[in-house]
Amino acid sequence: MAKNYKIQKIKKIIWLKVSHGEDLLLVLSQFCVKKNIRFAFVSLVGALQKASLGYYQQGQKAYRKILIKEPTEITAGLGNVSLKEKKPFVHVHLNLADQKGNVLGGHLNEGTIVFACECALFELTGDPLKREFDETTGLALWQF
Ligand code: ZN
Repeated sequence: MAKNYKIQKIKKIIWLKVSHGEDLLLVLSQFCVKKNIRFAFVSLVGALQKASLGYYQQGQKAYRKILIKEPTEITAGLGNVSLKEKKPFVHVHLNLADQKGNVLGGHLNEGTIVFACECALFELTGDPLKREFDETTGLALWQF
């Protein structure tokens, strides 16, 4: 039985259009800081002009960068907002399809430029989850 869980209610859903040419992660991060969204579920679809993703190398405990210079469809974008160093931290993973429908994916980094993007932020009630450095994984993970 899982012990690390938290039950929250949805406070509101914010529909956000990320404009053509904008940096996806930067826009989401700045929006959450400005609107003080500290705890949320993120869902998005759209298309990108280019993408910068990360792949976490578990052995090295370091991200490898994956640059996709061609246009892609965002077939799925999922993530969350929680607190890291007391500030809203946006964590999103993307599935991206190329023109043949082949799918690539990874951790969203800055440098991912939007062609068109529709995003829903499900803001939650209650105390936000907080991220702290985890020795085992080398990642900033939720603390319970
Ligand atoms: Zn990630």
